[in-house]
Amino acid sequence: MTSEFELQGLGISELAGEYGTPFYLYDGEELGGRLTRLRATLHPSLEVFFSLKSNPNVSICALLHAHGARAEVSSMVELVTALTAGVAPSDIMFLGPGKSQAELSACLDHDIYAIICESFGELDRIDELAAARGVTARVALRVNPEFAVKGSGLTMGGKPRQFGIDEAQLLAAEELAARYPNIRLIGVQAYMGTRILKEDPVVENTFRIFDLAERVAARHGFALEMVDIGGGLGIAYFEGEDDLDLDVLAAKINPVIEEFANRHPDTRLVMELGRYLTAMSGTYVTRVEYVKTSLGERFAVADGGTNHHMAAVGIGSFVKRNFPMRVLNRIDEEARESWYVTGPLCTPNDTLGKKVALPPVQPGDLIGVERSGAYGPTASPVFFLSHGYPAEVLVHGGRSYLIRERDQTTDLLARQHLHDVASYAADAVR
Ligand SMILES: *Cc1c(COP(=O)(O)O)cnc(C)c1O
Repeated sequence: MTSEFELQGLGISELAGEYGTPFYLYDGEELGGRLTRLRATLHPSLEVFFSLKSNPNVSICALLHAHGARAEVSSMVELVTALTAGVAPSDIMFLGPGKSQAELSACLDHDIYAIICESFGELDRIDELAAARGVTARVALRVNPEFAVKGSGLTMGGKPRQFGIDEAQLLAAEELAARYPNIRLIGVQAYMGTRILKEDPVVENTFRIFDLAERVAARHGFALEMVDIGGGLGIAYFEGEDDLDLDVLAAKINPVIEEFANRHPDTRLVMELGRYLTAMSGTYVTRVEYVKTSLGERFAVADGGTNHHMAAVGIGSFVKRNFPMRVLNRIDEEARESWYVTGPLCTPNDTLGKKVALPPVQPGDLIGVERSGAYGPTASPVFFLSHGYPAEVLVHGGRSYLIRERDQTTDLLARQHLHDVASYAADAVR
């Protein structure tokens, strides 16, 4: 007998039978435990804000919140999600380069902790909206720093970007605190990149952002109530990559934080994290519909693919690299064959894995793409070929919960309107 993958005692075949495939499966213990370990290891004055962008499910947000996460949101729906998940407005920040009037108004009306402002034009707009409400807006400035630190998957800093205000422009501008009567500047934010897998760049970023924050605050005449050091902590997905070592990171970054915290005892210190918190907890589960060969290669054609998991195509690389994958219903069997794992879309790009080592695959097998809890369906073309959003299932305390229903045909058609083309067609024929 071969054994199957179990999550907190629940077998994968039963879960797949109950909820149908394809679906995302989340391990609530991993999710909460990861944040707890992070908070216990990093300096205690560091507050962790969960970037909902990485996984905006309301139950995921609520679970992380229950383990001490605050929220960083970038759209109206993310804001309402965080509030619905129980995050206090005083623990929510709103960030993003293109905030609409409606979004900024919602920030003020909910009195969230901070709007992270990304341009001078946005400052003008916030000031106006605050004036109209007779309130003072709390605003942190996002800076596009001149420095860049190597070692992240996507590097920010030192490049033309739509994000934040260039360091040079900010330091050359006339004093901002005096210019906007309805804004209280409270802090500085910088985000240096994502998928950072080395400890040193994170430490270096933090050190430099602290320095930048002090210079910006001094130049513009405000007290540093908050400094957001970004984050970008990565997860190893591909061969040759290694996960960050939290203990190594802590040993290096905690003294930097300690030193700053001692000089600024009343300043909130913030790290914003998405991928690091959610990626490990999630598995994308698809069922194999057919197996076939083509020109000597084996193909497992599954019921879900890149329409739900675009990242599996291979993030930021020209060479296809595979996420970790397993046949979940036979995890003990030796992975002795090479397989292409593909989905239902009519495009060759719909390839979850190329030359993946798997045991002999059969129709009906459940293939799991692991480390997939971040940037899954919401970062994928879920409407391509109208398959819609997959189900999401959270296992917590030994029980499973449906935390998002899969889209049904009626859901997908409900927002379309059938225009009465018949009458025009009849005219045309006549
Ligand atoms: C995307 C993003 C995050 C989250 O990034 P992760 O790499 O998932 O932690 C945080 N801050 C900003 C400004 C972002 O754009």
